[in-house]
Amino acid sequence: MSDYNEHNDSELDEDKEEKNVKKNGDASTTANAGKSDNSEYEDVCFVCRRPESKAGKMFKLPNNICICDDCMHKTMDMVSQFDYQGMLNNPHVQDEINEMAKKNGFPKISFVNLADLRGDGGIPNKQKLKKKKENAGQAGQDPILDIKNIPPPHKIKASLDDYVVGQEYAKKVISVAVYNHYKRVATGTMDEIEIEKSNMLMIGPTGCGKTYLVKTLARLLDVPLAIADATSLTEAGYIGDDIESVVSKLLAAADNDVEKAERGIIFIDEIDKIAKKKNTTSRDVSGESVQQGMLKLLEGAEVEVPVGANSKNAMVPLATVNTRNILFICGGAFPDLEGIIKERLTKTASIGFGAELKDKYDKDKDLLSKVTVEDIRKFGMIPEFIGRLPIIFTLQSLNRDMMVKILKEPKNAILKQYQKLLELDEVKLEFTDDALEAIADKAMERDTGARALRSIIEEFMLDIMYEIPKDDNIGRVTITKEYIQGTGGPIIDIRSNQIAGRLEDLKQYPTDAP
Ligand code: ADP
Repeated sequence: MSDYNEHNDSELDEDKEEKNVKKNGDASTTANAGKSDNSEYEDVCFVCRRPESKAGKMFKLPNNICICDDCMHKTMDMVSQFDYQGMLNNPHVQDEINEMAKKNGFPKISFVNLADLRGDGGIPNKQKLKKKKENAGQAGQDPILDIKNIPPPHKIKASLDDYVVGQEYAKKVISVAVYNHYKRVATGTMDEIEIEKSNMLMIGPTGCGKTYLVKTLARLLDVPLAIADATSLTEAGYIGDDIESVVSKLLAAADNDVEKAERGIIFIDEIDKIAKKKNTTSRDVSGESVQQGMLKLLEGAEVEVPVGANSKNAMVPLATVNTRNILFICGGAFPDLEGIIKERLTKTASIGFGAELKDKYDKDKDLLSKVTVEDIRKFGMIPEFIGRLPIIFTLQSLNRDMMVKILKEPKNAILKQYQKLLELDEVKLEFTDDALEAIADKAMERDTGARALRSIIEEFMLDIMYEIPKDDNIGRVTITKEYIQGTGGPIIDIRSNQIAGRLEDLKQYPTDAP
């Protein structure tokens, strides 16, 4: 994710982060204060690492060691069946002990560091599972959109409009899908009638707002969101992240609260990178196999995921997460898909005016929106995988007007952020309209979508942010087209002038006051 993206989102993420910091801070202080009040987290069996919610009541031993019923019984059985007598009567064992005693004057005893055996002392809170709350969701501040009482699609879209510029169709589709999904989740109708999940596939060029749209949505709904990159996923057992690690990420985003994670959203970016590899003879561990592996997750399955780690082999508790109510959104740029669409369209229209139509599609900017399931299959996605993403939609590439709007209109627009920063120095920052257009033009040249905007602005704001605080007299800075194009400078207004100007104004309108 680019700087631009991170910065733009920072405003809204701040609250959440603050909350997390607070929570972690509290947890660690309580942990330090004698571990008496750590009731927020579940106990974990020292032997099988299963949490209390799964393994049942625990036996509590000294040093915070907990052992589940099963493991305790197994241990007892083993101990009772062990043939101590046989061992001690065995001449070999006796010989060995004698030998060692001769050598060292001492039989070999290995000392155990009891601190290593502490049940939870060594486990950080991020690897512990939160206990289920009876009245979950009541505490904390209210989300903008309440998923228990999900607002109608037009309201969801209106909230999205505050942040995401353009992409009307995508916002509409996503609002309806989310509405249907959470309505089903909230009312539990999924149990009675098996309705398909509203998993989505988003297709759009880079930097057009795919990730941003999902992030904004998750924030508005206040549901946990995990963003994973399909490129790093591999079939289980190979180098790379296991497919189930995406659920593990979601659990971490939900503060290890399984219930909360089960209502979350998983966004898998770069999904086009797991297309079936063409003409390979070796095993396709990061392509088709990943698609196969994702099938059960997309549909809804119980998966065991490690808490606070990426690998199941780590000595961490395992949590069972049901993915039935998790909304999966996959996104990708799907390069070359346009070629496939064009080929299909020209093939179907090749009778008669073929040549003319070919030209027509070459110029068609909105070609991507004509995508069909067949095209995606041809691209290399397996039918079972596409079948589990019933909602397919495309995002437009950004044009100049949209770029200008992105600069100034969203609630956390970049310009607003800079204006706010300079306001703290009591300096007004303004941009002329043609300056904004010049920035948009420059960004269009880079062809990385809205991501380019931030880097361009950073480049030329550097001098301004460096120079302005030097001089207390500066009252206003106006960025001009010439400054952006490197042929001139910004217009600087001195504060004293403004005051002088205002005094002049006042003189013109004498008041009745003495
Ligand atoms: P991608 O489509 O490659 O996932 P992103 O969603 O990461 O692109 O977009 C990069 C950044 O560009 C976002 O963080 C966001 O700030 C900005 N952006 C992109 N599209 C839009 C849009 N339609 N409206 C507002 N901001 C946008």
